[in-house]
Amino acid sequence: AGYHSGRNGSWRSRRDEPSIGGVNEQRTALVTGANKGIGYAIAAGLGALGHRVGVGARDDARREEAVARLRAEGVDAFGVPLDVTDDTSVAAAARQLEEAGHGLDVLVNNAGISGDHAPDWSQDPTALDLAEARRVVETNVFGVVRVTNALLPLLRRSASPRVVNISSSVASLTRQADPDAQSGPVMAVYAPTKSYLNALTVQYARQLAGTGVLVNAACPGLVATDFTGFQAPRTPEQGAVAALRLATLPDGGPSGGFFDDEGALPW
Ligand code: NDP
Repeated sequence: AGYHSGRNGSWRSRRDEPSIGGVNEQRTALVTGANKGIGYAIAAGLGALGHRVGVGARDDARREEAVARLRAEGVDAFGVPLDVTDDTSVAAAARQLEEAGHGLDVLVNNAGISGDHAPDWSQDPTALDLAEARRVVETNVFGVVRVTNALLPLLRRSASPRVVNISSSVASLTRQADPDAQSGPVMAVYAPTKSYLNALTVQYARQLAGTGVLVNAACPGLVATDFTGFQAPRTPEQGAVAALRLATLPDGGPSGGFFDDEGALPW
């Protein structure tokens, strides 16, 4: 509890939370890239909130190890082989979830890559490596489209379906254009993939308005994971908070928004 107690009033009270999925019904979630980092922490957090959690991961050994760790923590976890860049893999994952018969209530699109970058994270637009850019877009953007569209038929059958896209504050054009926020490296590949993901979040929310499917983007903050070389202030558990709030939004909650764990962020 307490996930919706943000300071600036953007988060709604959780008093009506038990209405999600019915009081006694266990909700089922899928988290992509859940074998480590923020995805693993989101899977653990959803498990602690009582969800049955599908651990989407492309590597068999890493996935099974994560499932075993989650089960040891008391999470009702199961493995879902999943490479978000591969149509066949995504179709197989959708089939597996369909055949398991538990439905799907929550999809967290977390799998993401930064691409090749200099040690300082810079990606120079005047020397853009298009092959690299395509690879990152394929994962961070089209991966989300591929997985979301394959799973939408299942999600639409949920009483309270939620889609959470893991974005980043670097996605914000307001921030990218703010001279005071331009001390970070120029990131001509990674940051625009997250801007694209944010824009897609809005388009999905518009398309799905009135269906009950709420689609939002979450910024985890700077989190110590493989992704950041473990050089970042926040723990994966802290990085999971915004996603957990959005995954458990009450019916009628926001859709098409961009949030961190304190509230709405500027586009
Ligand atoms: P990690 O590198 O620790 O985890 C990334 C996860 O994505 C891994 O499980 C990885 O699997 C998986 N993945 C990558 N490509 C694919 C694919 N094609 N199919 C399936 N899974 C895939 O990074 P984080 O936990 O830090 O990042 C998670 C998300 O959070 C990303 O979207 C990232 O952009 C975002 N983010 C992270 C921030 C941070 O500070 N860490 C800040 C803002 C956003 P594998 O182990 O097989 O490589």
